[in-house]
Amino acid sequence: MLPQTLSDAYGRRFKYLRLSVTDVCNFSCSYCLPDGYQCHDADHVNLNTSEIKNLLSAFAALGTEKVRLTGGEPSVRKDLSNIINIAAKTNGIKTVALTTNGYKLKENIQQWHDAGLNALNISMDSLDARLFKTITGHDRLDKILEGIEIALDLGIKVKANAVLLKGINAHQLPLFLDWVKHRPVSFRFIELMQTGDNEDYFKAHHLSGDKVRQWLLKQGWTLQPRNETAGPADEYRSEHHQGRIGLITPYGKDFCSSCNRLRVSSAGNLHLCLFAENGHNLRHLLQQPEQQQQLQNLLQSLLTSKEATHYLQQGYTGSTYNLSMLGG
Ligand code: SAM
Ligand code: SF4
Repeated sequence: MLPQTLSDAYGRRFKYLRLSVTDVCNFSCSYCLPDGYQCHDADHVNLNTSEIKNLLSAFAALGTEKVRLTGGEPSVRKDLSNIINIAAKTNGIKTVALTTNGYKLKENIQQWHDAGLNALNISMDSLDARLFKTITGHDRLDKILEGIEIALDLGIKVKANAVLLKGINAHQLPLFLDWVKHRPVSFRFIELMQTGDNEDYFKAHHLSGDKVRQWLLKQGWTLQPRNETAGPADEYRSEHHQGRIGLITPYGKDFCSSCNRLRVSSAGNLHLCLFAENGHNLRHLLQQPEQQQQLQNLLQSLLTSKEATHYLQQGYTGSTYNLSMLGG
């Protein structure tokens, strides 16, 4: 029998799952958790490894080929290597990726690699140590850069992310281009998104991704074709640079038409969109492998209610008060 693929009413196919393994984070990025992590739900319990195993098996049976582990900060979980290994061993999963602030990268990358990690996204909103500390609250840039070199030596596919922040890091964009000149890293610029918690910050610091696109094109960077499990970035290359530049523009026209990803929170709720009003509880079907078929049926039926777009342009942020709660 041919493997099935999750799809929605708009003909979009979903082979990519972003799984948040915790909503806790140890950083206090100014656009995400300016006051650090605050517990909103004292009863919150993260999915355990057995629930994660059952979840991933069901998604993989429905065509999921790529899993990105995210958070909060996923590396605050002591069993992260175990989770990576579970994902890597799931039949049908070809890529196991991790999004991290890099805090434990240098110490743990070998272990994550051995567990089966093949792709890594590291958030680095500045390549200037002082500004990095101002944005994240942590003086860790040097250690993170050392960790990246180890990851590259291990042959892991590395991407870095910076959120575009008008008046904060936007003047340093040329430094990111220089950094990928001789490194096989794709650097992604993410347009700042408005969430429930950051309205004033958003108004002060949002920089249009289209402006950055024009700037890149002017300097000879050219748009590359994307594949079916690629993330949301438009990727650009330049013949003078070994690395690439990615641009993630959620406010851009037609951003949602190529959506290929679904999200599950660390409490086991399916979010059909980063900015959906509600999550759909899957946890009751994650307790036994025998519940697989029921879980697959539920996923397929929930997909029919996925909306065409996120309505971010209208200032709508759903139930997402910050991205730490679901992973971006
Ligand atoms: N803690 C990990 C990290 O920072 O990489 C994983 C979770 S974090 C929520 C995932 C990504 O979302 C990071 O690249 C972060 O910079 C980005 N992010 C957080 N809040 C954002 C916002 N309001 N707009 C755009 N990107 C945001
Ligand atoms: Fe933590 Fe990531 Fe949010 Fe920064 S962006 S506060 S590292 S969850």
